[in-house]
Amino acid sequence: MITKTQMYHNAVEKVKARAQQAQTIANQNYHKATLNPLFKQVDTNIISLNIAIAKAEVDNKDSSEYKKLLKKFLNERTKILKNMNMAENDLSPKYFCPKCHDTGYYKDNYCDCVKKIVNDEYSKLNNCILDPTQTFENSNDNLLSDDAKLAYKKIYSWCEKFPNNKIKNIVLQGGTGIGKTYLVNAICNKLSSRQFLIQYFTAFGLNNLFLKYHTCFDYDRQNMLDNLLDCDLLVIDDLGTENILKNVTIEYLYLILNERLIKNRSTIITTNLLPEAILDRYGERIFSRLINKQNSTLLKISGNDIRLKK
Ligand SMILES: [Zn+2]
Repeated sequence: MITKTQMYHNAVEKVKARAQQAQTIANQNYHKATLNPLFKQVDTNIISLNIAIAKAEVDNKDSSEYKKLLKKFLNERTKILKNMNMAENDLSPKYFCPKCHDTGYYKDNYCDCVKKIVNDEYSKLNNCILDPTQTFENSNDNLLSDDAKLAYKKIYSWCEKFPNNKIKNIVLQGGTGIGKTYLVNAICNKLSSRQFLIQYFTAFGLNNLFLKYHTCFDYDRQNMLDNLLDCDLLVIDDLGTENILKNVTIEYLYLILNERLIKNRSTIITTNLLPEAILDRYGERIFSRLINKQNSTLLKISGNDIRLKK
């Protein structure tokens, strides 16, 4: 699975390939034009004149005669090209991005064209969860219970600060139909629009991935957990609905949570389970990674089923 750095690297390579292609086409056009002896003669004159002008300017000599001649030859070249169904600008590369001329960089930073490619990649990778309509801005306060409102508010400001939050892990605890999924979508939409890499898994899907990893012995294995470890935000939806597989579920879940904390990366977990039940089911080590005051927060969302309130 791909990391953020790799994504930018690939995007720059893609943009550079565009430049290469534009240059190749321009070279081919030029070559085609030089097959015409008239063009070749005029073009040779233009090259010599450009050199002569440059020399004259270095020596502080008058170059106006050369420039007049140059203009004449340039006009002539344009006419010859036109007869060949070509234009002057066919001889120079037509870059896809006028801003960076397909170098990928603009003012010492990634150009917008690179960011666009990365953005598109992100939405492809993140779209397993994204419902673009479920945003903080669209959320309807009237449908939320008071503690859900509070949770929305807290998480909104958490998203604003992301990724520089002291609190890395958020556990959203509550029953079904109280806006947990909406909230997760709102977080993903907000952070994805800021180009963070998000990976969304149901606990069930994650468990299947763990099992695959556990029973896999080929080359693929090495990279199977990379995106879980490296993404900016990992969302594990509905923890507690998966089966506990011996030597798999708890072991790998701990590995992921622990590694992510060491790397200072955030994880959001939704669950119906109460803290005691989490401790019971997953044990002390996972519990302490998920629910501790230093770097985690537990937000309870109770209240009425918002689907009933509509
Ligand atoms: Zn560009």
